[in-house]
Amino acid sequence: MSKTDIRSLSLSELTEKTVSMGLPKYRAGQIYSWLNEKGAVSFDDMTNIGKQLRKTLDDEFYICNCKIDTKLVSQKDDTVKYLFDLSDGEYVESVVMKYKYGYTICISTQLGCKMGCSFCASAIGGFKRHLRPSEMLSEVITAQNDLGIRISHIVLMGTGEPLDNYDNVMKFLSLVTDENGLNISMRHISLSTCGIVPRIYDLAEKRLGLTLSVSLHAPNDSIRSRSMPVNLKWNIEELLKACRCYTEVTSRRISFEYAMISGLNDSDECARELSSRLRGMLCHVNLIPVNNVRENNYVRSDRERLRSFSEILQKNGINVTVRRTLGSDINASCGQLRAKKITDKK
Ligand code: SAH
Repeated sequence: MSKTDIRSLSLSELTEKTVSMGLPKYRAGQIYSWLNEKGAVSFDDMTNIGKQLRKTLDDEFYICNCKIDTKLVSQKDDTVKYLFDLSDGEYVESVVMKYKYGYTICISTQLGCKMGCSFCASAIGGFKRHLRPSEMLSEVITAQNDLGIRISHIVLMGTGEPLDNYDNVMKFLSLVTDENGLNISMRHISLSTCGIVPRIYDLAEKRLGLTLSVSLHAPNDSIRSRSMPVNLKWNIEELLKACRCYTEVTSRRISFEYAMISGLNDSDECARELSSRLRGMLCHVNLIPVNNVRENNYVRSDRERLRSFSEILQKNGINVTVRRTLGSDINASCGQLRAKKITDKK
């Protein structure tokens, strides 16, 4: 009989399971607190649980953990990048960034990605599999344990498309925000999507209070479809309609990600077109100078382009920021370390 993935269970699921094993109800609370609040990595860490019972638990359940394969620390800004080794020989990457308000972790939600955006390193090597809730939790717990810190913010912006792994991501969100567990506020969580339109409506219905980021990267379909195949399925009009619905239902501002690629999407004309499409929306545009990935030849827009583009948005009443680059000396943008590992292994 295969063992149950205990870190993917909610407190009530764990309680049901342990009560059915004949254990008193309070045991589930103790075990859950060890796993999620204290970040235990084995049943032997659970010192208020007797040896015999620890053995019984070990026979019934397994604890999903990540092992650190590679850890890179930026000399410039303390950003830490991890490549974690999962139990099946797959690798997943996460980045921890230090801000004035606390520590943020950027986690991966899938191994590889199906979406095939041409500028993104996560697309390299294709899609392997979804990550389970326990594996996403382990990214947070392993980084916390290693650095001896409390992480206060999470961004789902690593490898993978979170809305393509919807059920597991929703379960992860409920576990990571549970007050008996890591207790991270939903207000401190951002989820980034390339635009899986039906799931944006589903997410709106849940009224979770998280921040939705949408990877737009273009003002029109002809440019967007060239670099983001998802646009062929749901075009910008459908995407923005879903985004308007999201802001109406949740009253939450949407953040649009826009990677500035020289000569592709960074002209003044593009800025004007983007302004008119977003006019009147409860939103914010985050301009990101594109990161060069080994497999493509994109060049980031220069400072002057960024300035001119953001000025046009501002003049049209659109909130805009230029994202600060963290960890540039350690290849900290998503998918790059994993992609290198995959290529090196071949
Ligand atoms: N699949 C999700 C989340 C993962 S990518 C999404 O598409 O939103 C996180 C963000 O990084 C996305 O906005 C993505 O478009 C952006 N990104 C990917 N590769 C990039 C690169 N080379 N330079 C700048 N941003 C990039």
